[in-house]
Amino acid sequence: MELLDGKLASQAIKDELTLRVAELKAEGKKVPHLAAVLVGNNGASETYVGAKVKACGEIGYRSTLVRLEDTISENRLLTVIDELNNDMDVDGILVQLPLPKHISDEKVITAILPSKDVDGFHPQSVGRLVLGQPSFISATPHGIMLLLEHYKIDTRGMHAVVVGRSNIVGRPMSILLSANTNPGNCTVTLCHSQTRNLGEICKQADIIVAALGKPEFVRAPMVKKGAIVIDVGITRVPDTSKKSGFALKGDVKFDEVAPLCSYITPVPGGVGPMTIAALMKNTFNACVERNGNE
Ligand code: NDP
Repeated sequence: MELLDGKLASQAIKDELTLRVAELKAEGKKVPHLAAVLVGNNGASETYVGAKVKACGEIGYRSTLVRLEDTISENRLLTVIDELNNDMDVDGILVQLPLPKHISDEKVITAILPSKDVDGFHPQSVGRLVLGQPSFISATPHGIMLLLEHYKIDTRGMHAVVVGRSNIVGRPMSILLSANTNPGNCTVTLCHSQTRNLGEICKQADIIVAALGKPEFVRAPMVKKGAIVIDVGITRVPDTSKKSGFALKGDVKFDEVAPLCSYITPVPGGVGPMTIAALMKNTFNACVERNGNE
């Protein structure tokens, strides 16, 4: 069993981006600028946005964190997005989800200029992804593809089972793994809460991507010997032994499943850091495409 180390692979990507940013600076060109919008003070969202802003600093990007009260109206938030769309210095915009219930995620995501949609959630980005056209790819599935690439895993012809069909993880993951690329070229089964015989389907998989948000859901009897297991889940479960009062759990029961696998991602330190690396890559690309500066 080999660990797919997201910390290591993401650092390699960030190091490469750091060099490319230094080159841009040396040539007097514009450096990437990411604007992150955080509505309310959800603890997990604070952590994720904090990590994204920190990564920008490490690589040499500019970043702006726009903090808004959770009582903000939808219209006011749409105005903030519009201002960021029109800010010539801002290359990428991300709105940390989830948003408060009175605000439509769909309206807000669609309001982001597609050329600044570094999260890859805009319908135009998703449409281009489905058609196999160059686009911003949702950071988590993009990060997983980068991780498979980093470890030079040839996925051609494999049966991939993706558990979870969300717009931001499961569904784009199924599209990427089935694309005529390498990594890619898999035969994909996309499962969800209505799937019958999920355990049996997973057992047939050469690759399992668990993205359902149910801690330790994937157990040993669901996994074929030699399978590659990618654990996307991050759930905070109460843990009095931790200073924070919670522990992070993946969707895979790691200790039980790991001995069966050829490769497996840990939680934390697997998909999470890769998501940030992919976002940083998207932001770099947004900058060079918008400014034609490479
Ligand atoms: P969603 O809640 O949006 O989607 C969950 C999906 O899992 C749904 O399609 C749902 O099916 C399916 N599902 C739920 N229960 C079952 C079940 N018992 N059997 C089969 N399928 C089931 O979650 P996200 O996609 O946003 O996130 C999934 C997990 O990944 C979460 O833990 C989240 O925190 C984590 N995450 C981690 C990231 C990272 O950077 N590492 C980034 C993004 C998310 P149905 O459609 O039928 O309801």
